[in-house]
Amino acid sequence: MGGESAYREGLERLLASYRAIPADARVRLAKKTSNLFRARAATDAPGLDVSGLGEVISIDPAARTADVGGMCTYEDLVAATLPFGLAPTVVPQLKTITLGGAVTGMGIESSSFRAGLPHEAVRSMDILTGTGEIVTATPDGPHADLYFGFPNSYGTLGYSTRITVELEPVGRYVELRHVRFHTLDDLQDTMIDIVDEREYDGERVDYLDGVVFSADESYLVLGRGTDEDGPLSDYTGRDVYYRSIQHADGVTRDRLTTHDYLWRWDTDWFWCSRAFGAQNPTVRRLWPKQLLRSSFYWKLIALDRKWDIGDRLAARKGEPPGERVVQDIEVHIDDITEFLEWFLEEIPIEPIWLCPLRLREPLPPGADPDRPWPLYPLEPRETYVNVGFWSAVPKQPGQIEGRANRLIEEKVSELGGHKSLYSEAFYERAEFDELYGGIHLEKYKSRYDPEDRLLGLYDKTVRRQ
Ligand SMILES: Cc1cc2nc3c(=O)[nH]c(=O)nc-3n(C[C@H](O)[C@H](O)[C@H](O)COP(=O)(O)OP(=O)(O)OC[C@H]3O[C@@H](n4cnc5c(N)ncnc54)[C@H](O)[C@@H]3O)c2cc1C
Repeated sequence: MGGESAYREGLERLLASYRAIPADARVRLAKKTSNLFRARAATDAPGLDVSGLGEVISIDPAARTADVGGMCTYEDLVAATLPFGLAPTVVPQLKTITLGGAVTGMGIESSSFRAGLPHEAVRSMDILTGTGEIVTATPDGPHADLYFGFPNSYGTLGYSTRITVELEPVGRYVELRHVRFHTLDDLQDTMIDIVDEREYDGERVDYLDGVVFSADESYLVLGRGTDEDGPLSDYTGRDVYYRSIQHADGVTRDRLTTHDYLWRWDTDWFWCSRAFGAQNPTVRRLWPKQLLRSSFYWKLIALDRKWDIGDRLAARKGEPPGERVVQDIEVHIDDITEFLEWFLEEIPIEPIWLCPLRLREPLPPGADPDRPWPLYPLEPRETYVNVGFWSAVPKQPGQIEGRANRLIEEKVSELGGHKSLYSEAFYERAEFDELYGGIHLEKYKSRYDPEDRLLGLYDKTVRRQ
């Protein structure tokens, strides 16, 4: 654990690096890991030195809170909290996602149907704004506007340097039930019931997500935290977690340590490690276990982008180059079947990840009851489903750039949904501002970044500047 003085030193380094950036230059992060999928414009300009802001500062087991640097990864935070029988209320699936990244970039996980999103667990945040000041944002303090405006701002209002976040008690194990569905309608109905009742077949549900392999093969995975001992599975080596979910009919059970449950999707980056051959049994036997993790696949992706490996291999097989479709979208739970049926017909990608979410109740003091988090408008007391798909589709000759991605944007907007902004986006400016609270962002920008030292949200996410 880093402690207060290490944090102070890290903060000094950050402020010195801010001062070293010429006044007419953009302020950007200089950070080693990322879980952003959109390509960013290359730059030689010096960035913010956040290297000293990656530590857990302290854990308060009695208050059930953790105080962490803004660039602390969930992997490090979970390692520090589990010995106390505690975990963050929402732990995004990829180990190198940081607290600051998940709060500003709308992280999500299988506890989100009851615990909301990572930013809802934030008690207070210190933020380096565009003006170079450090301000403390809380729901009822003088910077409450920044507290509520920070989620989905992706670093356009400032960078969080320190976050106090709530923790919750967890069992030592998670007992899993995999429930098979033969129609998407049945899956939707059951998901609605579980979100409302927080149980299935008389047994409590603490964690809920799902996987769609095809219209007639989909699953909900229900997790229950427990301290009861029992046989445990291990998907960090030979066996592949998402394959363990599949079966012909009814319900199957499994059990993981809480640690392995929280990181179940990281080992194979959901299922995306397939593209690198890591699920081929022979290759897997030779693959070093410590490199079965999403941060290593990111390195492979960087190589693919640099050398166009995927497109070259496709060309050798006489296949067209691919359009990357790496997106998470969210629609209302009542529309999930309609979206999935459309998607399976139009965009030939499977599997698909499902994760229901609801804002926490009660809302924090000072929240606007109609639009608590202005830059990503989810309504209180409504349930939504995050749908994740991460692959590529063949490019049609002469097609417009991002054809499949644009079709998805249109369908999601037609259903009144949104998409996460970590990947490519193609919206026109007016629609983008409408969807992501442009008027509110302008207000926050004029207070926290009046000189435009930080990029705007549209420039960053759509224009990829
Ligand atoms: C393929 C893929 C799958 C994903 N799946 C999931 C998922 O299942 N669950 C989930 O929760 N998320 C998922 N994400 C999204 C991820 O949570 C967001 O992209 C998140 O912002 C990444 O955080 P990071 O810490 O890696 O930040 P980075 O990737 O380094 O940065 C992301 C953005 O946040 C800004 N930022 C970073 N740190 C800070 C800070 N301290 N303060 C302010 N702004 C900051 C950066 O400027 C940048 O705009 C996925 C992303 C990808 C590419």
